[in-house]
Amino acid sequence: MTIYDSTPGQQVFGLTLPNYDELMGCIRCGRCLPVCPTYQETQLETFSPRGRLSLLRAVEDGTLDITRGVEAYLYHCLDCRACNTVCPPGVRIGELIVAGRVAVEEKHPRSPIIKFMLRHVLTGAERAEIISGPLRFVQAFRLDKLGVALLGWLPGVGPKLRQLVEFAPKMGKPIRGELAAVTPAQNVGRFAKSPHRVAFFLGCMMNVAMPDVSRATVRVLTRAGCEVVTPAGQSCCGTPHDDQAMHALSRELAQRNIALFEPFLADVEAIVTDCAGCSAALKEYAEWFHDDPAWAPRAQAFSAKVQDVTEWLDAIWPEELQPKHARVRATYHDPCHLANLQNVRAQPRRLLGRIEGLEMRPLPDSHPIRCCGSAGIYNLTHTPMALDLLDRKMADVAGSGAELVVSANPGCLMQLEWGRRRSGQKIVVKHLVQVLDESLG
Ligand code: SF4
Ligand code: SF4
Repeated sequence: MTIYDSTPGQQVFGLTLPNYDELMGCIRCGRCLPVCPTYQETQLETFSPRGRLSLLRAVEDGTLDITRGVEAYLYHCLDCRACNTVCPPGVRIGELIVAGRVAVEEKHPRSPIIKFMLRHVLTGAERAEIISGPLRFVQAFRLDKLGVALLGWLPGVGPKLRQLVEFAPKMGKPIRGELAAVTPAQNVGRFAKSPHRVAFFLGCMMNVAMPDVSRATVRVLTRAGCEVVTPAGQSCCGTPHDDQAMHALSRELAQRNIALFEPFLADVEAIVTDCAGCSAALKEYAEWFHDDPAWAPRAQAFSAKVQDVTEWLDAIWPEELQPKHARVRATYHDPCHLANLQNVRAQPRRLLGRIEGLEMRPLPDSHPIRCCGSAGIYNLTHTPMALDLLDRKMADVAGSGAELVVSANPGCLMQLEWGRRRSGQKIVVKHLVQVLDESLG
C-alpha cells in the first residue's frame, strides 16, 4: 500500500472506540489543517486531523466500517500533536487518533515483527542492549555496508536495506552499567549552599544509540549542582507501545516505572530525562491512569515530578556557570514531544542563549513545530512520508545558514543525522546537553 492508496473493502470492527462526545467537540473550523504535516504533504482531508476525526465519527455512527483504509489514515498520523495546539475548542485530537488505533487493533493487529520487537526488545534500557551488541559488531566490521553491496540490487529488499543502513545510528557502549546509584553534585558551596537532588530516567534509545548524550547529561547536571540518583531496573516509558496500539503493555511499563521511582519521590525535586519522547510520556502517566482508582494518585504523584532536562536546567542554572563555545552559527529544532506536547519552547532557547559563541538562527515553522518525520518508528514504517518531511526540514536548515543543529530528542537527532547524510550538508547535529557539556570545558 502506498501512502496515497488506501485499500477499501477489507472490513474490521473495533470494539473500544474513542469517546464519542470528544469526537463531537470538533466544530470543523479547519484551523488544524495548515499545521498538520501529513495534510501539508498531501492536501487530502483524510490525511488531516479533522478528516481523521470525521472517519472515527463515521465509524461510531455506523456509517463506515473500520477498513484497511481507515487504519492507514490513522497510522499515517505522526502523533506530533501540532493540531492540538491550535484547536479552538481544545479537542484532544492526537489522543483520539491513538485511541482509534486501539479500536482497529482489536480486530486488525499490527505487524508481528513490530509487536515482537516492542514486546521483547524495547521494554527497557537493559533489554534494548540485546540488539545493540550485535549491531555494534556489524557496524564495527562494516558488515552493514557489505550487506548493501551484496543485496542492494534485490528488488523490494535492496532499497529498504539501503535506507536502513543509511538511517541506522552508530551504536555506542551503553551507559546503563556505568551509572552509579548516586552521582554526587559538584560545585556545591560555590553556586549553592546545598545540592539539588534529582532522579534520572534513562531512555532505552539513549542507552544504546546515544549513550554519550546521557553521559553529558549526568556531567552537566552534576556541574550545575545536582546530585543524580539513578534507580536500577527502569522500564521503557511506553510511548512506542502506546503509538502502536499496545495499550496494555504501555500501561504495564508505566506501572513498573511508577513503582520503581516511588521510594525516591519524597527525596528528589524532579525526575529528569534527556529524551523528550520519554518526558512527554512520563508526564502523561497521570492521564493514562486517570480513571483507575488504584493507580491514579500514584501516577499523579509520579508525573508531577517529571521534567525534561532542558526544562530543569533552565530552572536551576546557576548564574555563575558561564558556558563558552567556539564561534558557530546554530539553530534549534523543537522536538514535537517537547514543544507541542509539553509546551517547552522557551527553556531550551534560554539555555542556548547562555552559551557565549553561539549565533542563533531561527527555523521557520517553529510554532506549532513541523515534525521532522521521525515520530518514533514512523520513519521506518512510513518511510516515503517521513523522507518528504525530512527533506523539507533539511531545506529549512540550509536556509538558516546554521553550521550546528541542536535538538533534544533521540528520534529527532537520528532523523536530522539521516538528513545530513542524505543532503550532504556540512553541519553537525547535537543534543542540547552535549553543547552545554562542551561549553563548560
Ligand atoms: S498529530 Fe500531527 S500528523 Fe496527526 S493529525 Fe495532528 S497534526 Fe496531523
Ligand atoms: S481545529 Fe479542532 S475544531 Fe477545528 S477542525 Fe480541527 S479538530 Fe475540528
